[in-house]
Amino acid sequence: MAERKPIVGGNWKMNMTRDGATQLCHSLLLEAVEPQIDTEIVLYPPYVWLTDAATILSESFIRLGAQDGLAESNGAITGGVSLTMLSELVDALLVGHSERRSIFSETTDKFSQQLVSALDMNLLTTYCIGENQTEQESGLTYQVLEEQIGSVFEGATGHHLAQAVNKNPGALVIAYEPVWAIGTGLVAQPTDVQDRAEFIRKEISNYCDAPQLIRIQYGGSVTQKNAGDFAALKDVDGALVGGASLNAEDFLSICRAFSVGKH
Ligand code: PEP
Repeated sequence: MAERKPIVGGNWKMNMTRDGATQLCHSLLLEAVEPQIDTEIVLYPPYVWLTDAATILSESFIRLGAQDGLAESNGAITGGVSLTMLSELVDALLVGHSERRSIFSETTDKFSQQLVSALDMNLLTTYCIGENQTEQESGLTYQVLEEQIGSVFEGATGHHLAQAVNKNPGALVIAYEPVWAIGTGLVAQPTDVQDRAEFIRKEISNYCDAPQLIRIQYGGSVTQKNAGDFAALKDVDGALVGGASLNAEDFLSICRAFSVGKH
């Protein structure tokens, strides 16, 4: 059996009506039955549809996650939703998505705390990293990845994070998402993605005793057409999918590509 079970996430971002969200959950459950998909599947709907999705997906093989969540458990934070609250509904979390970094100006301090709290709560926790276009064109990709990984492991929170990861390395997923490939139709070269995934695993080994157990996803305009190219890569264990996760057939084809490619 493969050391790392493939994992595909569907990040719905700020999309879907309530009807659309419930229909998509039902379609995924219906269409995923045959052939058997041996890929861990996690959906990240908007907060407001989480309760509906949790009801439909309960007891199913599809896991539910949140796109963000605060490490603070409660308090005077208008508009905030805490991981403590979310953990009653979901068992997975996205941290550090490039849209959180760029649109909400969020930084390492928040990500580090979210990672620690989420792992302490036994949430399947995906940390998103990746270079933007300017960084890529300036040849800074590896430097950016090193910084984005190293910075969350700094200081007392970082020390706690390393302990949490060592306790359960399978609960941390790193999503390598070149920002220039997200939602653009531009796809990174599979050979580059393999090199970057290998580099990420090496960087993680500075903080984790079992980097071979940490799963690494590629994200950036993944479709049913190109998923097989990424599934074939040694250090890539799945995908984080935005646009194509809004259609049941497309999303499940990607999940199947990883199921086939990794077994
Ligand atoms: C994402 O939202 O993380 C993503 C990769 O989006 P898309 O698949 O649409 O590029």
